Amino acid sequence: MIDAYKNFEVWFVTGAQLLYGGDAVVQVDGHSTKMVDGMNASGILPVKVVYKGTANSSAEVLDVMTRAEADPKCIGVITWMHTFSPAKMWIHGMQKLRKPLLHLHTQFNEEIPWDTMDMDFMNLNQSAHGDREFGHILSRMRKNHKTVVGYWKDENTLRHIAVWQRVAAAWADAQDMLIIRFGDQMNNVAVTDGDKVEAEIRLGYHVDYMPFSDVMEYFKAVKEKDVDALVSEYFSMYDHDSSLEDKSTEGYKRVRNSAKAELTLRAVLKAKGAKGFTTNFDDLGDVNVEESGLGFDQIPGLASQRLMAEGYGFGAEGDWKSAALYRTVWFMGQGLGKGCSFLEDYTLNFAGERSAILQAHMLEVCPLIAAKKPRLEVHHLGIGVRKVQTARLVFTSKPGDGITATVVDMGGRFRLIVNDVECIEPKPLPKLPVASALWIPKPNFEIGAGAWILAGGTHHSCFSYDLTPEYWEDYAEIADIEMLHINKDTTISGFKKEMRMNEVYYLLNKALK
Ligand code: MN
Repeated sequence: MIDAYKNFEVWFVTGAQLLYGGDAVVQVDGHSTKMVDGMNASGILPVKVVYKGTANSSAEVLDVMTRAEADPKCIGVITWMHTFSPAKMWIHGMQKLRKPLLHLHTQFNEEIPWDTMDMDFMNLNQSAHGDREFGHILSRMRKNHKTVVGYWKDENTLRHIAVWQRVAAAWADAQDMLIIRFGDQMNNVAVTDGDKVEAEIRLGYHVDYMPFSDVMEYFKAVKEKDVDALVSEYFSMYDHDSSLEDKSTEGYKRVRNSAKAELTLRAVLKAKGAKGFTTNFDDLGDVNVEESGLGFDQIPGLASQRLMAEGYGFGAEGDWKSAALYRTVWFMGQGLGKGCSFLEDYTLNFAGERSAILQAHMLEVCPLIAAKKPRLEVHHLGIGVRKVQTARLVFTSKPGDGITATVVDMGGRFRLIVNDVECIEPKPLPKLPVASALWIPKPNFEIGAGAWILAGGTHHSCFSYDLTPEYWEDYAEIADIEMLHINKDTTISGFKKEMRMNEVYYLLNKALK
C-alpha cells in the first residue's frame, strides 16, 4: 500500500445468485475472501481492497452500491461474477454508483481440473459466461468502466488493477480539490482558459481567485526568522555559488525575497486548504515594491518549483486546468519515483529525425524531474511588471521515456490530449539559466507536434516519467471526457479522422446517456 492512499479503499463485490443454493454462495464467499487477501498480499496494489461480500439480488446490489457511494473511504468498486449473476439485477445498483468501476474477468481456479471436474464445479465456477452477462449490461447502459482480464494472481492482471487504483485515488483527490488563482488568466490567452463551472461538474475541482491585496495580509504576517530559516534550508539543499550567502549582496537579498514569497504562498494554501495554484507575472502586489516592500519583487518562481515538488498543482499565467492536472499527475504517480513537472513548449531544435522541443518556463519547472541536484541561482528576469533579478533552481531533466498531457476546453466538452515523448540529453545553455527538458514527441517531431497542434493542445502540459497511456485511458474513462493519444503509431490522416469521428461521437454520447 502507498502512504498517500492509506485512507482509501477499493471495494470488491462478487456477483452470484441463489439458484444453486446457499452452499454454493458460501463457497463463492470463501473463494472471494481468498482472492482479495491474495491480491492485497501481492505487494502490487497501492490501495487496499476490501471484500464486501456476494450480491445475490437486485436489492443486495443496490444496497452495496449505495453504501459504496456514501462511504468517503471508498474510491471505487471492483466487480467479479463468480457464478452466473443475471445482469438485470445490476441495473439499479449501477445507476446508483458514480464512483470508478472496474470489472475483473477472472476465475478462482487457474486451470480446469480435468480429472475431477463435474457439473457442481461447472455451476460454481461460471465467470466465463457470468462476466459476459455483466459486461453486456454495462455496455447496454453505456456505463463507463475499466475491464481487466486475467488470472487474479498474475502480475500482469494486478498491474492493470494497480493503474486503475492510482487513477481512482487521484480522481477522489480531485473531487475536493481547490485551485487558487493569484491573478487572472494572462490577458487574451485562449488555450489555457475555459469553463470553470463545467470543470467542476465534469472533473470535480473548484477554482477560486484571490486578489493580491488579500495575499499581502499573509505576506505581512510572515516572520523574519522563518525567512532566515528557509534561506538556510535552500543553501543546505541546493548547490549554489558561496557568494550568494553574503548578506550584503543583491543575490542574497533576492534569495531572501524568494523565501518570503514561498512562505506567503504556503500560508495561503494551507489556510484555504488548497491543492494547487496559479500565478500571473503581471499581478504581484504593489508596483513600487522596491520602495514599499509590499509585494513580490518578481514572480514566485522558486516557490512554485518547490511547491510543485511537494504535490501542489501549478499552472503559470492563470492556467488553472494545468494546475489541477499537475496535481492529478503527481498524485497518480505517488511512490513511483521518477518524477513529474508542469512544462511549456519553449523553443524548437530542428535536427532531422532528432528534431526536438526545449521544454522550460520562465522559472517554474519542478525539480522532481532533475537529472542531478538542482543549483540555486539568481539572475535577471525581464518579463512582467518587474524587471529585476530573482532566484530559481537550475537543472536539466533526466533522459528517458515519458508522457505529457493537457486538457483543453473545446466548447461543450473537455479534450484530454496525451503524447508519448522521449527526453534526450540537451546541450548546455550558459545564457539561459532556467530548468529545462528536451524531448522528441512520438512518433517524431513532425507528426507529434503536428497532431498536438491540430488537436488544439496547449503550450503548457503536465509531464511524467512514471505514467503510461493506460493511466490516461483510465482517467478519461472515469471523467467521461475525450482522449486523443499521440504515439508511435499516429499518422496525421488517421488522427484527423479520429477527431472528426469524436466530434460526432460526443454529440451522440450526450443523447444516449
Ligand atoms: Mn507559460
